[in-house]
Amino acid sequence: MHRNQLNFSGGPGALPDSVLVQLQQAVLEVPEVGLSILGISHRSDWFKALVQTTEQQIKQLLGLNMGLGLGSSEKYHVLFLQGGATQQFSMLPMAFLQQAAPSVDARSASFADYLVTGYWSQKAIADAQRQALDFQGRINTLWDGQDGGYSRLPHTDELSFNPEATYFHYVSNETVEGLQQHQILGLEGVPRVCDMSSDFLSRPIEAQRFDFIYAHAQKNLGPAGVTVVVMRDEMLQKARNDAPGFLNYHTQVAAHSNYNTPPVFAIYVVHLVLRWLQEDIGGLSAMGQINQAKANALYEVIGASSGFYKGHAATRDRSMMNVCFRLHDAELEARFLHQAAEAGFTGLAGHRSTGGLRASLYNGVRLDAAQKLAQFMHEFQAQHQSR
Ligand SMILES: *Cc1c(COP(=O)(O)O)cnc(C)c1O
Repeated sequence: MHRNQLNFSGGPGALPDSVLVQLQQAVLEVPEVGLSILGISHRSDWFKALVQTTEQQIKQLLGLNMGLGLGSSEKYHVLFLQGGATQQFSMLPMAFLQQAAPSVDARSASFADYLVTGYWSQKAIADAQRQALDFQGRINTLWDGQDGGYSRLPHTDELSFNPEATYFHYVSNETVEGLQQHQILGLEGVPRVCDMSSDFLSRPIEAQRFDFIYAHAQKNLGPAGVTVVVMRDEMLQKARNDAPGFLNYHTQVAAHSNYNTPPVFAIYVVHLVLRWLQEDIGGLSAMGQINQAKANALYEVIGASSGFYKGHAATRDRSMMNVCFRLHDAELEARFLHQAAEAGFTGLAGHRSTGGLRASLYNGVRLDAAQKLAQFMHEFQAQHQSR
């Protein structure tokens, strides 16, 4: 398939060409149904089966046990929700931080530990704090990287986790700053909750060490409009059951994400992307190798540029998904964006909160696209070296 533009957008991001071709057909008619994907009822047997299949695909890719008769520590639920990852920022504390009984000292109200490692975890903690106000709960900031300009991540020896916390929350990949956790954080015994919006299913992870994972689709899995939640059954059992229907994890689990009209199209795209990931790519470890090669191609150019390109993240924490860098000044950055656009590279502007430049290398971005961008960066440097 010919592309005029190679897409390095921070999100919604590139999707695999083969999936786009299938979607083109599905907008007219899903072959096995005979109807447009945009007009298939969410109450149809076909759609119910699609949801179940997509749940299984996610469990399979993550290596989570799928059989019947599992104990609640081995059993996981997969949800497809609306409202984006942002909705989970408040739905989570709403569900899990319980109001202290009136007779109880407010200080014994439940609390959660949060890491603040960048733009998205700042958003997550702000919403959690708003929720906590309602029930005199507490949100602890275990670490905040703001003073360092969010250019590095804390490692375990810098953190003193609270064994009493109701849960521990962090962001596995800070999309805006290009920082990625390369180890699993937290204390065994404290439910581990992770926003994996920008690196979910981009490489193998030990999923069974997490109690609650959430990730919206528009970075690695599909279009905007659906957010995946993977929750251990033990965790679900702790969620309050008196929240309004849509905001109640119990209701959503019982309905298999079909409580109200779900985003049928977005879920269908996720199903196709996961099938591509399983069958064409060959699963998470193959995907991880491709993603590593893409990131290496760009980091090598940055590393060999004698400071022409300045990477934002500390080397050990840099992201395979979002490569953030700067040039000498804003004028040169504007020139970079302009020349890149002319050469067919799009989506390279840094996040509006930080400026600079960012190449996002989500699953749908091909290795040869990253290699072409690396070549372009190399040539751009040669042209502008004197600055
Ligand atoms: C993009 C992003 C979000 C925001 O997601 P929405 O779906 O727009 O709410 C949250 N967390 C992370 C890590 C992100 O990259």
